[in-house]
Amino acid sequence: MTNSEWKIITVSNFDLESYRQQTVAEHITSENYGEIMLKALQSTVKEGDPTWFKMVPQSKRLWLGMEEFVDTTCESCGADLFGKECCLNSNIG
Ligand SMILES: [Zn+2]
Repeated sequence: MTNSEWKIITVSNFDLESYRQQTVAEHITSENYGEIMLKALQSTVKEGDPTWFKMVPQSKRLWLGMEEFVDTTCESCGADLFGKECCLNSNIG
């Protein structure tokens, strides 16, 4: 594996484009530990629940649901409003 870090995210259980993915855990350096957490989370999902869990590379960009369909370019700096590069988010992480 080329990935050194993983994160666990929520995804739509029904492949809905309107579903906004969220981070559950990140900077997981052991794929094995990640799998254990992932299985535990997935075991909580009941039939019909909107959310499923997935482990993806740390660098994977999340799908933001309906926000994907609007312009999220920052008017001040030109970066993505939800990205760390944006001037509004520079104090995060
Ligand atoms: Zn900005």
